Amino acid sequence: MIFDAHAHWISGTQPGGVDNLEYWLSTWELQGITHGLVMPLQALYDDACIRRENDEIAAACARSRGRMIPFCTVNPAQGEQALAEFSRCLNELGCRGLKLHPWLQGISLASRGVDELSELAGESGAPVLVHDGTPCFSLPSQAALLARRHPKTNFILGHCGLFEHWREAIDAMRHAENLWGCLCAPHLAALREIVARADIDRLLWGSDYGFGGADHIAYRRELFDALDLDADRREAIFARNPSRLFRLA
Ligand SMILES: [Zn+2]
Repeated sequence: MIFDAHAHWISGTQPGGVDNLEYWLSTWELQGITHGLVMPLQALYDDACIRRENDEIAAACARSRGRMIPFCTVNPAQGEQALAEFSRCLNELGCRGLKLHPWLQGISLASRGVDELSELAGESGAPVLVHDGTPCFSLPSQAALLARRHPKTNFILGHCGLFEHWREAIDAMRHAENLWGCLCAPHLAALREIVARADIDRLLWGSDYGFGGADHIAYRRELFDALDLDADRREAIFARNPSRLFRLA
């Protein structure tokens, strides 16, 4: 198994039709990806797309023969409406977790709406993947504080701090044992430090496919290969950890 823990669904805007399920699965196959997490994209910056994109992702994943794991999004600023939509996604659509993007959604991880959604996620065994690496709302330390407030919920740093906040991501994961990190976007020297210093059993790998084309997958696979990890650590990051976190059969 090679599990891509960071991919975005794009509704009809990308050449090649990335919203076409067979196109999606054949791209993964060409790049050696067997399974992955599929998250919204348009809905992160346009609340009007939330319900439609959640529906589309759930429908596509349901037809993917178990290869695509659906994550929904809601805007925590919408309070009760956000909680209701998250419940609908979990209970009616079969979504397995929640994606939050504090920067694009214009919300603070310290807000009441995020706390309420985090509690519901924990009760449902659904992880929360948080975009991170961009101030002022999306810092790894802010995600660590959120994770400490909700010890029964698993949180994932979507980018392990990107280019500038990866040191903070390592410290954040040490500070909260329910905080995981997706190796998606830091440069090679940063990736080396992260795999050496963070808990290897809480690391995932991801490409950000959908936000960009298939090149993103190839590029980030090559970066990962350049780390030269032994077989056991590769297996942990590509298969064992996502299987445990996302409760794959
Ligand atoms: Zn992303």
